[in-house]
Amino acid sequence: MRRAYSYSRRSALERCTRQYFYDYYATNKKCGLPEDRKRQVQSVKSMSGCALLAGSILHRFARLHMDPSRNLPPSWITQTALRSFDNAIEFARDPRGRAHRLQERFPPEELVELSYEDLDGEDAAARARQKLIRALSALLEGSAVAELLCDLSGFAIHPEKRLSKLKLADWCIGGQIDVLALREGEARIIDWKLGGVEHEADSLQLYTYGWFAENVHHVPRGGVSGQRVFLGDNVVEEPQVVTDDLASVGRARLFQDIELMEELHEYGRQGREEVFRPCNQDGICNRCKYRAICHDAPLRACSNATFVSLPVPQGA
Ligand code: SF4
Repeated sequence: MRRAYSYSRRSALERCTRQYFYDYYATNKKCGLPEDRKRQVQSVKSMSGCALLAGSILHRFARLHMDPSRNLPPSWITQTALRSFDNAIEFARDPRGRAHRLQERFPPEELVELSYEDLDGEDAAARARQKLIRALSALLEGSAVAELLCDLSGFAIHPEKRLSKLKLADWCIGGQIDVLALREGEARIIDWKLGGVEHEADSLQLYTYGWFAENVHHVPRGGVSGQRVFLGDNVVEEPQVVTDDLASVGRARLFQDIELMEELHEYGRQGREEVFRPCNQDGICNRCKYRAICHDAPLRACSNATFVSLPVPQGA
């Protein structure tokens, strides 16, 4: 079973160890978990959430916006992105009734808030739609983003650049940079954020992206900078240069994460579910797609995952 590190993987581990097991081990062919339990995990694993849906649509259309060969009008981007969001919500309200849509090239996903009939499910969908509208408006019409794109003229732009060729202690480091802009001796990394300003800088993510630019694109240390664009507030933060200090903090965090993942890896491969402790924190569990298999939470009758009648596992 491949040892693959990514930022989303470490976030899952930080949130809940049991969720980490379900996300990254339980449904793997080589995992020793009993097959009926694998099927239960699989049945809810593909669910998404309203905010995640808005974020993924934003990123998809940001990519189109950055592609100079397409030159798509902002009004078309906004309308098509919102239609895509609305269609996904429509499916999530009645996944069984609209099961034919699962044959589409990009099949829609069930959404956790609607499949579990959360009391604020419809509100969560409406809030996510509002966030998407605000972010698209900042992306397509905001002066801060326009200035940033102007700054990047003369750079070769690589939207959604996949990390590759990075390895640490047998773990392949994966991930995706929203925009990598390159020119001789310089790399700029842009990270689109759906929401508002966050003040805490993320040394780990910046270090990893910087490492990629240095290693694969031969940009010297000091020539790499990253900046987040908080589209919810129409704010582009100042570029943060990857200095030696920042790189050592980031690398230390990466080592610590990998050490912990390595400790858990063999248990994950064996399918030892009970080793991965559930966090049992309301704030996290209340939005978790695995509630049905972890806490026996009921799913709506129209969810395609309702066949699961589920014993609560040992250690829950
Ligand atoms: S329901 Fe809670 S404890 Fe179970 S996997 Fe999800 S977050 Fe973890």
